[in-house]
Amino acid sequence: MSGPLRYITVTAPDGEIIGYAWGSADDTGWIHRAASSTDAFRAGIDWFGRIRDAHRRGLTPAGVLELFSHEPGVGPVTEAPDMAALEELARIVTPADDRRLVDQLVPAGHPAWTWLAEAYDALTDADREVAWDGDGTPDDGDRADRTDREAAHRAAADGGAAGGGAAGGEPSGDGTVRTPVPGPAPVYSEQVQRVLRALQDLGAVTEEYRWMGHPLPEVPSSGRLSPADAVRAATALVCGERFHPGLVGDALHSGLLDAVVLSLRAWHAESAADGVSSAPCGRAEDGSGRQAPAVPVPVPRAAGGAPRPPQAPVRCRYCGGSPAVDVSFRAHRGLLVLLGFRRMDGPMCRMCGLGVHRALTTHTLCWGWWSPLSLVLFGPLTLVRNLLAVQRVARLAEPGPGLLGRRFDPGLPVHRRPRAYVALIPLVWVVGLIVVAVCAGG
Ligand SMILES: [Zn+2]
Repeated sequence: MSGPLRYITVTAPDGEIIGYAWGSADDTGWIHRAASSTDAFRAGIDWFGRIRDAHRRGLTPAGVLELFSHEPGVGPVTEAPDMAALEELARIVTPADDRRLVDQLVPAGHPAWTWLAEAYDALTDADREVAWDGDGTPDDGDRADRTDREAAHRAAADGGAAGGGAAGGEPSGDGTVRTPVPGPAPVYSEQVQRVLRALQDLGAVTEEYRWMGHPLPEVPSSGRLSPADAVRAATALVCGERFHPGLVGDALHSGLLDAVVLSLRAWHAESAADGVSSAPCGRAEDGSGRQAPAVPVPVPRAAGGAPRPPQAPVRCRYCGGSPAVDVSFRAHRGLLVLLGFRRMDGPMCRMCGLGVHRALTTHTLCWGWWSPLSLVLFGPLTLVRNLLAVQRVARLAEPGPGLLGRRFDPGLPVHRRPRAYVALIPLVWVVGLIVVAVCAGG
């Protein structure tokens, strides 16, 4: 689809953008944010259903967006030049996305780090030469007494020939799974399989990264991936192997698997040296009876959790511009006993922040007085919080070009918006009441 369209940004209560609902002249739709968490992805599926249902019930696309734009966590209706621009916005990866992936890794003191180091260091040239099993018959061996989890490990390492559960293999009576389609399959050595198992034990293979639909990360010239990219690559390799047998073998040759392991080990060494762990100390578990690392690793937890990976500057969540700052703006509406609250979270650049501030503050000045609690508490509180937030935004430099190219138009200052002066009505009323009371008393 080409041509301009309108969209709303849907945000989860924790501040993560779930995705974007769009409306063109005659249709509506939903775009998941590509790097979102699994929780946000599930919430996005619900949103998609609600958008579609509203459209089916006869609302126009513009009406659908207008309707949902008043819900908590939903931004104002915004215009995008075309679908490609919106898709680009949905592809933005935030520092929080990186952090969430790194948080999946076990703490620095967990023995899985040692397992990975031992398994990787023991790899020989022979391990890197992957043979292919012509008829694809899996080696049944002693699998009957393995746990399901190990079977899944093995399935991944065997390249699906042993039947990856996720690939749709059928469970058999002994708890293992068999592939429905036998074919040529790579045979990875025990050492390679140990490396892959260690990556899983580390938490580097995680459902928090939806690897399908993303290209496999490439080996950078430095040979070093960010910890988040290492998790992405590990997940894509281990899970992708079930669907594309030989992926791990390719990664052994291209150096991607080495980059994953070495990057994770380097990051682990640094975070251990910094005395921070990537997860709460209490999470460490060792069900295998293997030895914990001989060297005691300090694992006091720093406030705020995992160290932030070396990262891009904070970007505005609405336009993608930078610099941006993490702020929230609020609006309040009080009508007798009905109270409405709305909140929009950052990060926001200067332009978008001013735009959001002016819109929500004007709304509050107009609607924030008409219930007793609003008059004495919520109205003034909302205005003060917005004032504090806008000071942080106003200090920012003008944002560079946004990745989307469009951003909020700050529009007129609040004092030039007639609706803001509705606030004078309760003020005059209160002052009038006081004057009457004083005069009557005198
Ligand atoms: Zn912006």
